[in-house]
Amino acid sequence: MNIPLIELTTQHQNLRGEINAAIQGVLDRGDFILGQDVSKLEEEFADYCGAKYAIGVDSGLSALELSLRAFNIGTGHEVIVPAHTFTATAAAITFAGATPVFVDVDPETWNIDVRKIEAVITPRTKAILPVHLYGLPADMHTILDIAKKHKLIVVEDACQGHGAKYKGQRVGSLGNAAGFSFYPTKNLGACGDGGMVTTNDAKAAETIRALRNCGQRVKNVHELPPFNHRLDSLQAAILRVKLKYLDEWIASRRRLALLYNKLLADSNVITPAELPGYQHVYHLYVIRSKNRNALQSYLKEHGIGTAIHYPTPVHLQPFYTKGEDKSGQFPIAENICNEILSLPMYPELTEEQVETVATEIINMMVPVS
Ligand SMILES: *Cc1c(COP(=O)(O)O)cnc(C)c1O
Repeated sequence: MNIPLIELTTQHQNLRGEINAAIQGVLDRGDFILGQDVSKLEEEFADYCGAKYAIGVDSGLSALELSLRAFNIGTGHEVIVPAHTFTATAAAITFAGATPVFVDVDPETWNIDVRKIEAVITPRTKAILPVHLYGLPADMHTILDIAKKHKLIVVEDACQGHGAKYKGQRVGSLGNAAGFSFYPTKNLGACGDGGMVTTNDAKAAETIRALRNCGQRVKNVHELPPFNHRLDSLQAAILRVKLKYLDEWIASRRRLALLYNKLLADSNVITPAELPGYQHVYHLYVIRSKNRNALQSYLKEHGIGTAIHYPTPVHLQPFYTKGEDKSGQFPIAENICNEILSLPMYPELTEEQVETVATEIINMMVPVS
């Protein structure tokens, strides 16, 4: 018996006909770069998120970097970011030329601790970059209130949050802009790399369109930094097929997550927070355990795939420590990284498989005499 952490082939087998037809359409038109599927996906995704504009780019990382650049955030500026996230969140700030200022995470939600944001605001602070980690929205109203008070921009890292809702509103429509990733394992994944910015700001949308395409607002006039961060038409065509199924997949992820929560309720592991007003989309189903490493080995021996997202908080990554000992700065994030474990989660996972995983976790806790 084998239960992988994630499995991508079933989804593509189920959609084989539709995806093949979409690919063939691009081949027949030959509009490989910024073709009609890119603009149609942009319209459909903006609509899905409840945002006015969407701009297709080549990755989640560039979606975040270009969002910051579109609001003139760069050299000499500071951007507030949680210490517990994927490194790309902070890297986007660094690549835009600004400095990431880390904040510890909330012990219950594992998202940025909004009570600790105001203490790190300085005259150089220009933006807050909250992450909807694992698919659970950050506390956006509090973040937007702080941003308003201090005149800061808010860029959402929605790379794990496609379709998640905060007080009834989809992520990607809450801040000044949001960055999404279509990395294949994400809740809406391409068959390669891809990303998207959503925004309600017409000027930012126009700047990002120029930034992704060699800095051109007008053809052959390279006014802005001449990057190439375009989304290609083949990926867009595939994503348009998959977007139609996203809500169904989210419903499946939520059903499986709530089953895990129920089955693990009396175990000694901590299950993810399900909070009123927050619709978690379970990009990852992450538990906490004091015996994380032993539990991971035990599950591996029993054919169950797991992973750690992420074993090291960003402020302790070598790229950011520059050789200095920075440990102890953000104790909650550091603790979480020692205890978290991602369990198998994907829409095609069965309830029986979830039951098997939960049973093994409970078996492992019962001392074998
Ligand atoms: C995946 C991810 C990114 C980066 O997306 P890419 O498409 O891989 O560049 C950024 N932030 C978070 C939280 C992510 O999960």
